[in-house]
Amino acid sequence: MKKLLPLCLLLASLFGCYAGPTNDPAATNAPSTILNPTHPMTFPIEHTDAEWRKRLTPEQYRVLRQADTEAPFTGKYWNTKEPGVYRCAACGSVLFTSRDKFDSGCGWPSFSDLAAKGTVLERQDDSHGMRRTEVVCAHCGSHLGHVFDDGPAPTGLRYCINSAAIDFGSETQTNQPKN
Ligand SMILES: [Zn+2]
Repeated sequence: MKKLLPLCLLLASLFGCYAGPTNDPAATNAPSTILNPTHPMTFPIEHTDAEWRKRLTPEQYRVLRQADTEAPFTGKYWNTKEPGVYRCAACGSVLFTSRDKFDSGCGWPSFSDLAAKGTVLERQDDSHGMRRTEVVCAHCGSHLGHVFDDGPAPTGLRYCINSAAIDFGSETQTNQPKN
C-alpha cells in the first residue's frame, strides 16, 4: 500500500495539469455563446450602407461590411510582430493585442485571445459549404474573420482575422472608438 501513495499523487498531479485552465471558458476572453445567423443584432455604432461606403476604403468595405476574405499572405499585418494593439478598422474599438498574436502559418493575423471580454460576437457561418464561426466587432457589427479551435494553449483558440478589418497602433493611443 505504501508504494501506491506516490503513484496516486503523481496521477493526481498529472490529471490536475491535464484538466487545467485550458478547457475552462472562464479563463479566456472568448464569448461563451455562438449566435444563430438569424439572431437579430443591434450595435452601439450603426451606419447606413452608404455611410459605411464613404467611411471605409473599398477593400475595408468589402471585408468589414460584405464579409469578404483577403487572400492569405497579402494583408499588411499577417507577419507583424511589433508590440501594440489592433483596433476595429470600422469603429476604432480595441479588439486584440500583440501579446496574443502568434505565427499560425495560415497567412492571416492570428490571435489566441481577445484584448478583453465582450469585444467581439461570434455567429455561426454556413457559407461556402463549411460550418465556421464568424467573428464580428461587438461595437459596430463589422465582419472581422473567423475563430477556430486549433490555437495554442491556454485558450486553444485561433482568431483568424483579416488585416483589412483591423488597424494596428500603440497601446497608449486613445481607446475612444470613432463615431
Ligand atoms: Zn467595430
